[in-house]
Formats: sequence, C-alpha cells, structure tokens
Amino acid sequence: MNWLTNFVRPKIRTLVGRLEVPDNMWDKCKSCEQMLFHKELVKNLYVCPHCGFHMSVDVKYWTNLLLDEGYKILPSVPVKEDPIKFRDSKKYTDRLKEARAKTSMSDALLSASGKIDNVPACVCAFNFQFIGGSMGSGVGTDFVNAASVAADENRAFIVITSSGGARMQEGIISLMQMPRTVSAINTVKKRKLPYIVIMTNPTTGGVSASLAMLGDIHIAEPGATICFTGPRVIEETIKQKLPDGFQTAEYLLSHGMIDMVVERKHLKNALSKILNVIFCP
Ligand SMILES: [Zn+2]
Repeated sequence: MNWLTNFVRPKIRTLVGRLEVPDNMWDKCKSCEQMLFHKELVKNLYVCPHCGFHMSVDVKYWTNLLLDEGYKILPSVPVKEDPIKFRDSKKYTDRLKEARAKTSMSDALLSASGKIDNVPACVCAFNFQFIGGSMGSGVGTDFVNAASVAADENRAFIVITSSGGARMQEGIISLMQMPRTVSAINTVKKRKLPYIVIMTNPTTGGVSASLAMLGDIHIAEPGATICFTGPRVIEETIKQKLPDGFQTAEYLLSHGMIDMVVERKHLKNALSKILNVIFCP
C-alpha cells in the first residue's frame, strides 16, 4: 500500500488541489438532527425546513428583522462588575471576558430605538450566547434604560426573550433585577404605551417569572420552551406526572398564558398590525 499512500495520493493532490470544505457550510438541526445547508437555513430565517424548529439567532438579527432601516443601538449602561466576587470552577470576571469576546457585547441585552413600519418603538433582545442570556445587574440596568427611553419618547416597548433566568453569579443582586424590571415596565404602562413580549426558545427562570409574563400582548415562536423550572424538579416537588409538552408555546397558548404563536417569517407583519391598531387607530 505504501506506493499508493506515499506516492499516488500526493501526486493526485498536487494535480487536483485539496478540496476545501468551509466549516460553516452545514448546520445541524438541534430538534430533528437533519444536516442543513447553511445558505438555505439563512434564507429560511434560521427555521429548520424539515421540522419547523426555530433556532436561536444572533441578537442583532432581531433588530434587523423587526426594525426599519436606520435604527439606533442604545449604548449599554456601565455597572459595577462582579458585585459579590463570585467564583465557581472559574472566576465570574473570566466568564464575562469570554462572553464579551464571543459576542462583542458588554452584557446579554441589546437595546435599540427605531421604527416598526413607521411606528416608533424601542426593542430589547436577550442574547442567549452571553452566559445563557442570564439577567444580572447589567441586563437589568439596560432594560430599565430602554424602558425609560420608550416612556420618554412615546415608543412601543418590545422585548425578545431568550434566557436561562437570573444570573446566579450575582446572587441576590440578580434577583433584585426582577422587581426593578417590573417597575420599569410600569412606567411604560402608566404612559399608556404598549409593552409586547416575544418569547423565543428558551424563556425560563427569573426572566419568565418577571418581565416576560407582564406583556400587554404575549407572542411566542412555535415550539419555544417557556417555563420557570424544568419538569423533573416540578414532578419531584408536587409528586405528580406532568402532561406532555406542557412547557411549550402551543400548550401555553391553549391555556391562556400566551396570546399568539407566530412563525418567524410572519413576526414583523404581526407586530406591525398590532402597533398600527394602537398608534394609528
Ligand atoms: Zn429540524
């Protein structure tokens, strides 16, 4: 075999060149495990063409998808870092550094101000890539800031959630963001401006237990997991078997927790119709 591997194969390689297959050419659906051609997936708005699973998207994708051209990103408000000097297998400050290098964001929430089909709006989106989209003081502060921009400038306030919940590395300070964000939402509601929540996969923990469930209108993407805690913990606590799929967008729609389940391709249109009824009756 030596002459084949040592002589013939290199000779063929020099003649035809090495076939380069870029790493990002294919993606695998996390739900049905089909291999998907990346370009097709982008065209399909990161929705699996086989099973309809709505994949996580980059946070900037949301602002580009929902807001008209020419929107402004709101600068992130600096906060005191690592307030309880937390360390588990890694220092919290190191986790922050890694997340910032990976996402080019200072924390897990991106806020932007612009228009949705000409209706003024302020949009916040959680980045699940940034420590699981968890809510610490940075996210809380940016959310409060975006809410006050919406209230001061008469804009609809829209949040796209994708979060594992409160950021445990900030202990009690992360839990304090729950009442803080609730209070910020109330300032928007007092001005009679709409607060709309779009829940994407997954919306869980302290985020689902605070800002995500207080919308005037709740929209969810198909198949999104929406819950406070996982089924195993609940089953062990209440000692009862839970119904199948009870933490999905569709189940919550049929039980009145959610108003609409909307596919990603129809999201801007649905939002635009709602906002036009409110702002241009
Ligand atoms: Zn799939």
